Amino acid sequence: MLMKCGRCLQQVPLGDMKYAKDGSTLVCMQCRGLTVQEHADAMRYDASPPLSKTGYACTSCGFTFSRANITPKRCPFCAKETIVLADNISSAKLLED
Ligand SMILES: [Zn+2]
Ligand SMILES: [Zn+2]
Repeated sequence: MLMKCGRCLQQVPLGDMKYAKDGSTLVCMQCRGLTVQEHADAMRYDASPPLSKTGYACTSCGFTFSRANITPKRCPFCAKETIVLADNISSAKLLED
């Protein structure tokens, strides 16, 4: 059974839920133990893309995109293995996915 966390609003298995310090709100284990401010910071971090995103471009179709943690092997647009680093492309031009 999935329950909605009272803070991050994610669906979490009931077994992973705990009552928050106020004793009435069920929150997930990740949220419990965080202060409201820490939680807000964590949410803000999740919502915004990390600054360390690397730009890539496909030499086949010209599609540009960015990935934060993984090095893509195939173009997400044409699926060809023609990905090159595109660090010189301004991040403003990179399509967010
Ligand atoms: Zn939560
Ligand atoms: Zn492509």
